[in-house]
Amino acid sequence: MAIEFNLPEAIATQQSAALMVAEHMMRPVSRHFDEHEHDIPWDFINGLWPVMRANPMFGAGESKPKNGDSGDKPKRTPIGNMTMIHLIEALSWGDAGIYLAAPGGGLGAAAIAAAGTTEQKQRFLARFRESEKPVWGSMAMTESQAGSDTSAIRTTAVRAGDEWVLNGEKIYCTAGRLSLEESAGLVVVWATIDPKAGRAGMRAFVVEAGTPGMKVAKLEHKLGIRASDTAAIVFTDCRIPLSNVLGSTEVVTAEQAAQPGGPKGFQGAMKTFDATRPAVAASALGITRATLELLHAKLLEAGYELRSDVPYHDMSAVERDFLDLEAQHRAAWLLTQKAAWLMDMGEPNTVEASVCKVKAGEAATLITQKAVEMLGPLGYSRELLIEKWMRDAKINDIFEGTGQINRLIIARRILGFSSRELK
Ligand SMILES: Cc1cc2nc3c(=O)[nH]c(=O)nc-3n(C[C@H](O)[C@H](O)[C@H](O)COP(=O)(O)OP(=O)(O)OC[C@H]3O[C@@H](n4cnc5c(N)ncnc54)[C@H](O)[C@@H]3O)c2cc1C
Repeated sequence: MAIEFNLPEAIATQQSAALMVAEHMMRPVSRHFDEHEHDIPWDFINGLWPVMRANPMFGAGESKPKNGDSGDKPKRTPIGNMTMIHLIEALSWGDAGIYLAAPGGGLGAAAIAAAGTTEQKQRFLARFRESEKPVWGSMAMTESQAGSDTSAIRTTAVRAGDEWVLNGEKIYCTAGRLSLEESAGLVVVWATIDPKAGRAGMRAFVVEAGTPGMKVAKLEHKLGIRASDTAAIVFTDCRIPLSNVLGSTEVVTAEQAAQPGGPKGFQGAMKTFDATRPAVAASALGITRATLELLHAKLLEAGYELRSDVPYHDMSAVERDFLDLEAQHRAAWLLTQKAAWLMDMGEPNTVEASVCKVKAGEAATLITQKAVEMLGPLGYSRELLIEKWMRDAKINDIFEGTGQINRLIIARRILGFSSRELK
């Protein structure tokens, strides 16, 4: 059987369109939105929306059904995730912060695609294809005492008649403001129906923009990706329909949720991350490619040779350093493609999703820092975007599970330990 590494034409065409957007609509305003945090890049958003509506990025997390699967599974495109990572890489080459402000379903849609029923997917995801105006989706899991340890979530969902009543405070929600204040979007909120049940009591709830009792309380000031809003959201007796709990409209008691094999809460979240970790890795690698290209150009401009066709021991220190950075980048990109391809094939990819996220997050942090170092004062100055890319890169080693947490996930899977056994 032939092994093919060429990019399919369908992906290549969309990728070159995304690169045009990156070059002409993102790079020229990159510095502005870095220096004017909380300004919204409306020109980019409005220009991109018509393209995004028709784009497989909305299918984040969807995959090819295995033979015999039917019923609850949506119609899926077998290259949806591969296309998505190539588009994200191209847009993040333009500007990773502005890319995170791009309209679309984002993490919220990915969670619905991963854990929602067919009816819920139709009800909640249609807006990301059909709305005339840009619309965003987001996901709120993190709380002040529950970051890596998601079982510590305190936001509660209590059943009251035909409704769920949410109370609690979420922090660090990407695109929280765009999805809830600037559009008719939604946020997927993780809450517990029984604080004593830990992960077994966790469920995901869809809260639509404009729902009374939900308020964007604060926007963070950040190190990097400053064009992307990061919101704190407060829920005070926020009432939503019973059917807005993801996965099953069946109402469960805390005891049922806590039973082994009972209704799945936390597993739904994990499925979301299998889809979105390769996307984060792709964004990291867009920054990395931009950095390597500019570093290469500036080193040549400064009179350095950058040969890759001479023996390692004949190379200069600069040549060796550059080659090493490029190898890190390429290794991370291959791992990312594998994780996305497995999803498209309908195969499990939990390990590969965490592996590519760890490698890409680390590579982006290392490569951008080394580029600043290799360019000396020019690298550190605001004359170039490299210092900004160094600040933008670090988040990829933090959100969607830090490097340490993804290493734990990989170790548990390989060694066969549960999260209780290996913490
Ligand atoms: C810009 C930005 C955007 C974000 N967007 C979202 C979003 O859209 N939705 C959302 O829900 N969250 C979001 N987050 C939150 C993000 O997912 C968390 O910051 C992340 O999960 C880490 O949690 P924490 O910050 O509480 O760190 P902590 O959990 O307090 O960890 C602190 C440090 O300890 C390490 N650590 C913790 N536990 C272990 C362990 N068991 N073993 C080894 N090391 C450990 C961590 O790796 C980390 O280095 C965002 C965060 C940022 C900064």
